[in-house]
Amino acid sequence: MCAVGGPTWHRHVSLHSQLPLIRTQQPSPARQSATNQPGLPPARRAPLAMSIHLRAHAFAANPLRGLAGTRSSGAVSPSAAAEALRALLDGADAAAGHHLSRVLPFRRGRPLARSPDPPAPSSSSPAPPPAWRLAWLPPSRVPGVPSDVFVFLGSHGGEGGGEEAAAYWAVDVSEVEGARFGGAGEESAFVDLRTLMVAADWRDKDAMGELAVAGHARALLEWHNTAKFCGACGAKAVPTEAGTRKQCSNESCKKRIYPRVDPVVIMLVIDKQNDRALLSRQSRFVPRMWSCLAGFIEPGESLEEAVRRETWEETGIEVGQVIYHSSQPWPVGPNTMPCQLMVGFFAYAKSLDIHVDKKELEDAQWHSREDVKKALTFAEYEKAQRSSALKVNQICKGAERGQSTSSDLRVESEEPAPMFVPGPYAIAHHLISSWAFEGAPKVPSSFSNL
Ligand SMILES: [Zn+2]
Repeated sequence: MCAVGGPTWHRHVSLHSQLPLIRTQQPSPARQSATNQPGLPPARRAPLAMSIHLRAHAFAANPLRGLAGTRSSGAVSPSAAAEALRALLDGADAAAGHHLSRVLPFRRGRPLARSPDPPAPSSSSPAPPPAWRLAWLPPSRVPGVPSDVFVFLGSHGGEGGGEEAAAYWAVDVSEVEGARFGGAGEESAFVDLRTLMVAADWRDKDAMGELAVAGHARALLEWHNTAKFCGACGAKAVPTEAGTRKQCSNESCKKRIYPRVDPVVIMLVIDKQNDRALLSRQSRFVPRMWSCLAGFIEPGESLEEAVRRETWEETGIEVGQVIYHSSQPWPVGPNTMPCQLMVGFFAYAKSLDIHVDKKELEDAQWHSREDVKKALTFAEYEKAQRSSALKVNQICKGAERGQSTSSDLRVESEEPAPMFVPGPYAIAHHLISSWAFEGAPKVPSSFSNL
């Protein structure tokens, strides 16, 4: 059992259940009927379109970073955690500090994960897919790594419930020579975070919590890799505050350097009059996948202005009202951007003629609500999750060496829908399904939506 898991984990997660349009619905009656429907062989069942409600977006609701995690009486401060870690790495006994220390190693952006085999199937219940977990190690298993390259992720436990407090760390071991982690006999391996994302069962609170922790850790480690020097004077930047900040090493500069977040607007453009939504394809997408428009924000631009400008530049459509939906941390974008923040909107079209900018997009088209609902086929997302979970299990056993990420977003089925949209791990899915199943939200009378 992972040291992070446990009942208090869930309590922390619930603090973040504030997304307006993404609600918990578990177990889902529709899902029950999908799995228990008697009399029909699986291949003949009609594809089930439904809305998947999450308690929070994937990578959000990190249980180590909630308010309770940082301000509770049992929380381990970064400085106390760093002191205990240094002592442990220097060979002090495990009693150093008054809390446990656990380390998550990464290699080339991939966290160490494990995937225990699920219980054997019985006649009454089929085998569930394996559930991956992060492979936390004691610091003694990460020898020869200087303590200042570890990044502090937060602490958990120690709140009087009998659970011992634990401090959690991540470290990049890509350059550690001779170190061996996981491998044969340990059933753990470094697994691409996107693969873990697709393989995470969105109904499994522990898996979604671990995904958020791994995403935060990857974002911090990648930021350390891309912020090696001071942008003001060019001197070396050194980690401070247990690796959560950096500072210029030049005594006459000492500029403080903070982890970077790159905001991206992502919008579902809606034709209210004809009850249609605009979906687009990029050439890098897998076949049949359509999604929302998205783009970066220019300096001096509001989020609403960025939504309107990007939509106009990429499709020639003029947008009027812009309504905020929700936001999602996205630590699995390009390596040059350690953590993007996807800020999701509904955008109401004022003009309907599409002129696709072929440099940005392969295609963009209006789709009816019925067609969009058909594209949201629950069975296909569940199948993609199960096959990715099995793939992670094989990787952890050493049975699969190649880790292609291009197939991660692929949704396959025996009778494929003409199109599909990204899975429930992506905010695009929830923007699209919120509109398809719940309709357009009431427009607030806010001056922020000029
Ligand atoms: Zn400097």
